[in-house]
Amino acid sequence: MTEHRGAITSEGELYPSPPRGLDYLEVEPPAPGHAVPLGGGLHWARIPLPMELNHINVWLLEDDDGWLLVDTGMAEDVCREAWVSLEQTLLRGRPLRRIFVTHDHPDHMGLAGWLHRRHHGTPLWMSTVGHASTVEFLAASGDEVDARRLRFVTSHGMDVSQEAVRRSGGSEHGRWYGDVPPLARAVAGGDQVVAGGRAWQVIETSGHCRGHLCLYDAANAVLITGDQVLPTISPNVSVLASRPDANPLAEYLESIARLERQCPPDTLVLPSHGRPFRGLHRRIEVLRSHHLQQLEALRAACGAPTSAYDLLPVMYGRPLRGFHRYLAVGETVAHLNYLWHDGAVERRIDDAGKVAFLDARRSGAGPGLELPAGA
Ligand SMILES: [Zn+2]
Repeated sequence: MTEHRGAITSEGELYPSPPRGLDYLEVEPPAPGHAVPLGGGLHWARIPLPMELNHINVWLLEDDDGWLLVDTGMAEDVCREAWVSLEQTLLRGRPLRRIFVTHDHPDHMGLAGWLHRRHHGTPLWMSTVGHASTVEFLAASGDEVDARRLRFVTSHGMDVSQEAVRRSGGSEHGRWYGDVPPLARAVAGGDQVVAGGRAWQVIETSGHCRGHLCLYDAANAVLITGDQVLPTISPNVSVLASRPDANPLAEYLESIARLERQCPPDTLVLPSHGRPFRGLHRRIEVLRSHHLQQLEALRAACGAPTSAYDLLPVMYGRPLRGFHRYLAVGETVAHLNYLWHDGAVERRIDDAGKVAFLDARRSGAGPGLELPAGA
């Protein structure tokens, strides 16, 4: 279902983007196992991650009887150790009362099962689609996941063996997830969550993954963005083998446009990676124009029928190694599918299942590229 669940590990590698014009909160990031108060029952903690993207921010909302936690860290000892320390430095005997998960990637929910048990069966709140897809993903065998990924990348022009796909990490696909507790509350866009003495509106977004939940405290203009908007990284937006015709980039652009409409420019943004900042609208503009540049460049490169794999240099401009190449195929297809759904490129699939894209102007059929409003 979600073959690219390792995506988070290389987001920064694939798509670094400058934090142009953002006003960072003048607070030192918390050390692992410690938290800093951000006022009004809201606390910021960091859980270290054993990878290139070396931390996730988690948010703790304090009520009289305990805490609501937003996101968990992954099922790795370095994360568990940070939690043991946080229990002493911040929680001080008052348990987690709710675990709210923004989305189904392992750095965000890998420790949900462990924390659920440790805090006396703390209920898990997340989206139905995120919960169901994780259960399905973890139930699949590594071989199934590898085979799906192999079919997908070879259809898009990558020449690899099953063995190479296996070595790229597919067979360890569940490695960073612990067990998944039952879904206690199915949360969806439009819901309200009261925690930390504040009323949070749930804003459901998509594109990075389906059923991604942001929390917006309108009274104080504070937005917990998960991975939907990050200050220095363009979130991974990929087509997955399980939904090869999907248009996640359209979903992503629609979602950030909605955040832009709903949240004022001076909103305090609490992202899952990096530092809290103000400048949401400026950041969204950078993310949007980054994708639009990629769309224009890809379309211009499709003068003849071309596979997504052969278009990687247009997207990245440098050689990619290892698992990054698999992620890059998914991201490139996300942009090509956007152009295809838009009618700007034609998608051709030959008898062998090989997919190629062609600028619709060359095929004589196409209209102009329709860019989303605000572009
Ligand atoms: Zn993340």
